[in-house]
Amino acid sequence: MKKFLTCTYLNLIPGFILTFRRMVMTIFGGHFTIQYPEEHYPFRQGFRGEHRLKQDELGRPKCVACLMCQTACPANCITIVATESPWPDREKVPQSFQIDLLRCIYCGMCEEACPCDAIELTPKHMQAAYFREDKVYDLTRLLHNTE
Ligand code: SF4
Ligand code: SF4
Repeated sequence: MKKFLTCTYLNLIPGFILTFRRMVMTIFGGHFTIQYPEEHYPFRQGFRGEHRLKQDELGRPKCVACLMCQTACPANCITIVATESPWPDREKVPQSFQIDLLRCIYCGMCEEACPCDAIELTPKHMQAAYFREDKVYDLTRLLHNTE
């Protein structure tokens, strides 16, 4: 019994040290809270948030409606309708491009599968919305989904 109690109390010591260290850091300038939503916690490099469709130097969508991202998506949340391109340098363009962000698992497979570097996952992460439809992003929204 005595041995058990000794072991139990010894195990508490690292916890006390950690708590004491945090207390000292807080008192002498360090703080662990941020004023959300005015302030945001800085995410690590490579964080995968909301999608953005990129545009080329002429302001056209870089997407050529090849459907590779739609095929690669494990959550089946990308829906693309292709149409004939008005420009001679590509065969197709997306007539509509939808991503259901409520089904998305932010795996990044769409970004990896794209042969044109046309889609990327940005650090944007504000997921709150009043209606489900607000989280289904269309072509226009995806093209202008910047910070
Ligand atoms: S991040 Fe993954 S789940 Fe989300 S749209 Fe891209 S491929 Fe689909
Ligand atoms: S893989 Fe790229 S080019 Fe192909 S449809 Fe998706 S975003 Fe467009």
